[in-house]
Amino acid sequence: MPRRRKRFPCGHQGYGQICHYCAQLAQASASKTRQQEQARLARQEWQASFAHDVVHLEGLPKAIVLKARQVIAEILAGADYRQFKGKRLNHDRRVISIPLSYHYRLICYDMGDRIEPRSVLSHEDYNVKKPKA
Ligand SMILES: [Zn+2]
Repeated sequence: MPRRRKRFPCGHQGYGQICHYCAQLAQASASKTRQQEQARLARQEWQASFAHDVVHLEGLPKAIVLKARQVIAEILAGADYRQFKGKRLNHDRRVISIPLSYHYRLICYDMGDRIEPRSVLSHEDYNVKKPKA
């Protein structure tokens, strides 16, 4: 006996007990909702991670945030800033600038007995804040 196409309550036509077109749409929509939920949780976790930073890193590119955290952790653990190509500024020898990338610098202060990470500046911030000679 040949199967008969029928019209489902949704208006689509097809074979079987359920409308496969609508079932597929529902599945795609559920999978999209799961992906959105995962993305939302990942964003939330990322936002929450900034609460543990000793330096304000929010709003910086992710790669810079991760690099900064790594360097900060090593500096706080007693690593030498020169191992990260850090340099003392000429106009204030207490200030140490450590490159994180071509555009970003981690600024630290030499407190005498320890090096204190203070901020991450972009190339632009850095040039603006540098006093004129
Ligand atoms: Zn349908």
